[in-house]
Amino acid sequence: MVARRRVAVFSGTRFANVMVYARMMSSDDRTRRKDDGLGGPGFEVQGVQASTWVIAAGRQRTPGAPLNVPPVLASNFYLPNDRLYSRTNGTETTDALEEIIGGLDGGRALVFGSGMGAAAAVLDGMSVGSTIALSADPYHGVAGLADQGVEQGRWVVERIDMADTAAWIDAAARVDLLWLESPANPLLTVADLPAICSAPRKAGNLIAVDSTFATPFVQQPLAMGADLVMHSATKFIGGHSDLLAGALVMNDDELYDKLAYRRLLAGATIGGLEAFLAVRGARTLALRMATAQNNAMELAARLELHREISTVRYPGLPSHPTHAAASFMNGFGAVMSFEVTGPGERADRVCQAAELINHATSLGGVESTMERRATIAGQESMPPTLIRFSVGCEDVDDIWADLDQALKHTA
Ligand code: PLP
Repeated sequence: MVARRRVAVFSGTRFANVMVYARMMSSDDRTRRKDDGLGGPGFEVQGVQASTWVIAAGRQRTPGAPLNVPPVLASNFYLPNDRLYSRTNGTETTDALEEIIGGLDGGRALVFGSGMGAAAAVLDGMSVGSTIALSADPYHGVAGLADQGVEQGRWVVERIDMADTAAWIDAAARVDLLWLESPANPLLTVADLPAICSAPRKAGNLIAVDSTFATPFVQQPLAMGADLVMHSATKFIGGHSDLLAGALVMNDDELYDKLAYRRLLAGATIGGLEAFLAVRGARTLALRMATAQNNAMELAARLELHREISTVRYPGLPSHPTHAAASFMNGFGAVMSFEVTGPGERADRVCQAAELINHATSLGGVESTMERRATIAGQESMPPTLIRFSVGCEDVDDIWADLDQALKHTA
């Protein structure tokens, strides 16, 4: 498939954003990649593979410039130049991060102090009286934002099951904002993004996709027709559980200006250290995603056969309700959830008994983490023994041995 996308182009000293034609993977390519087990990037950004782009973008190529990651600029400390103030104009560090993420997602990126900062910029920008379609079970922070707006009489929210493609297509023709989260946290439901994003639309409305669990290496919502991609870069993009960051990516200049202004007014600016860490972490995103999602596929298959496990939810498994819808993805990501047999308290003990896998809320790092979601405020409706499992880059047999011993010791 050849798709027209806005990508960043290396222009001699820097990469600059222009519209070019980028080659997306054909389905044959995609099958080959999956068979290779690479879960690989599979698309180009300005004539190089995305895995090269993520390493090379965001660098100055002038003598004396840093070899790789720009310096940590806590603010604009220069005497007056074209960067008057860092909340308004960013820094070289934030520019580099925006260049990397924008290129990967085929648009222009704005980075924020957190994923919630990015989500709030979109929701708070909706006019009074708007109708918003939201997944039935979105990230609870986004649900909180949407609910507050309803309480304040600012907008109406319709909740739609992420797997109900017909209902999303219907909403695309009626509502002002569709906010999809795919794969969704923590049931891993995958929305049929190609069908939904190409559906007939109400004039001027927006389709936004929280692509945190996928990353640009696994899905590219803008190329499918979405208007906005959102990432909690705290997760896979940063990749080391050591920062908070968010991003919005779009290819419409007017929307970009509007959201940049919202970021400026809300002060949702990313800190210099966080931008530096996110650039540094993103350099290995392709490698980490390939390893982590290969591990995830293998572990999901093994867990499904384990006698102490009642259900495994991973879009790569044919048993997952949205496995067929996930065929557009390049791999299936590195997060799954599973339910252990017995009471909820047993799931707590499994998390505590793990020695290699960390018992923690965050996800998307090089290290594996797991957590019983029903213990988290706002997630009480989750199945009582459901454990969300973010698979890291450790050796797959070591992760398996740890899971197996934790299950055995709590039987
Ligand atoms: N979206 C999803 C799918 C998430 O998992 C999270 C955080 O866990 C967020 C958004 C919010 O991101 P942040 O914690 O960076 O504000």
